[in-house]
Amino acid sequence: MAREIFEVRDWDGAARLGELTVPRAGVTVETPALLPVVNPHKQTVPPARLQSEFGAEILITNGYILYGSDEFREEALDVGLHDLYEFDGAIMTDSGSFQLAEYGEISVDTEEILRFQHDIGSDIGTPVDIPTPPDVSRERAESELAETERALAEAETVDVGEMLVNAPVQGSTHPALRTAAAEHAYATDLDVFPIGAVVPLLNAYRYDDVVDVVAAAKRGLGADAPVHLFGAGHPMMFALAVAMGCDLFDSAAYALYARDDRYLTVRGTELLADLDYLPCSCPVCAASTPEGLRSEDDDERTRLLAEHNLHVTFEELRRVKQAIRSGSLLELVETRVRGHPTLVDGFRAMLAHAETLEATDPVSKGAFFHLSAESADRPEVLRHQERLERLTVAGDTCLLTTGSGNSDDHDTTWRVVPPFGPFPRALSESYPLTAEVPERLSREAYERAADGVARLVETNPDVTFTFAHHQWPASAVERVPDGVEVQRYGDGTDPRDH
Ligand SMILES: [Zn+2]
Repeated sequence: MAREIFEVRDWDGAARLGELTVPRAGVTVETPALLPVVNPHKQTVPPARLQSEFGAEILITNGYILYGSDEFREEALDVGLHDLYEFDGAIMTDSGSFQLAEYGEISVDTEEILRFQHDIGSDIGTPVDIPTPPDVSRERAESELAETERALAEAETVDVGEMLVNAPVQGSTHPALRTAAAEHAYATDLDVFPIGAVVPLLNAYRYDDVVDVVAAAKRGLGADAPVHLFGAGHPMMFALAVAMGCDLFDSAAYALYARDDRYLTVRGTELLADLDYLPCSCPVCAASTPEGLRSEDDDERTRLLAEHNLHVTFEELRRVKQAIRSGSLLELVETRVRGHPTLVDGFRAMLAHAETLEATDPVSKGAFFHLSAESADRPEVLRHQERLERLTVAGDTCLLTTGSGNSDDHDTTWRVVPPFGPFPRALSESYPLTAEVPERLSREAYERAADGVARLVETNPDVTFTFAHHQWPASAVERVPDGVEVQRYGDGTDPRDH
């Protein structure tokens, strides 16, 4: 059964540009999308402005808070969320699971809270799942997951009309449980798939664990499943999370951080107190200075910081979308992860899943920029090396050369370019071998290329290979299999001298 509400338009690795159709709202939301969190009791930026000034197509608000609110419950039931918030995009509501995790109990079950969400006009509702925190025992994660799965089963039985329903994926930091949870959720007739309880990981900067959790969940979901990284709203990690295949993000951060005088940037968070300059050209920053912002009263300063935080967040999302369209998202990720060492860990964890990323990566993209040692482990490199196993070397002798000339002493000459490895000259102009590679390469790039040589040699046992290189590091040359004659340019054996 294909989920007709979500359509992928463009892929870049596991990242996708997509369209989420939200029937009850009568709108289509372009993904990746950011859902600003609207707190009914504290609207830092009114929802109408989120739409008109920031371009929000969808927002999220807490159905459980509205359910228990003396102030808003009746009005929400009377006029509906869209009128209450003066917002005609899509509105997702949360169920109180967060409160359940914080306070240990809530006074509502899945059936009742889903009916309430439906009755206040929510477009995407949420059952009461159990957000199991990271690092708990497998026994606890399993028994709480069983409860979440019961909640999903209950949700399937509630008549909610056109309202879409979230099917949260839990399982703590146990990858096999996350995958099983995702498979179970995907097999229900529910619609959107939030990956739950990652906030403690995000707060602790454990981006490698976040990547592994997302990868495990994605393994259990089909390509037509819209995936929400629940609680992730910092722009510094959007590129990485989108590259892993996340489509929806929500931000309470823009307002919560603003209240603590924290200023978001794509490279991390700054304290307003520490800033001498505003490294941003949004309307707030263009019209003010750090000193000016500090001199505002609390409410005004919070509002202005929240607006800056939203501008920088939406801007990064647009940049990520353009990067997917241009086929340069991984270059953006490589750039962004330099903002914090733990993001580098996240990136390396992501590259350990290169095979998954490769599966949906377009065969040809713009240009491959080799930007760091990690570039050597990108899915495009993996794909090239897998392709080597299907390429036949013509003749009995082959020169593999890092130079540009042809050998008269061999039946055939192939080029070797780090980090990809060997390829026949005919492929020189095809992606990704057209890569832009720096002259001063990391050791890893040579080593990966040598791995490619080894792969080619293995699959062509009847060919006699000669490998000619110019000043490759020993750690790479060592990876060239025995039986291959190794020559160094500059030893008088440069085939370019012929
Ligand atoms: Zn700004």
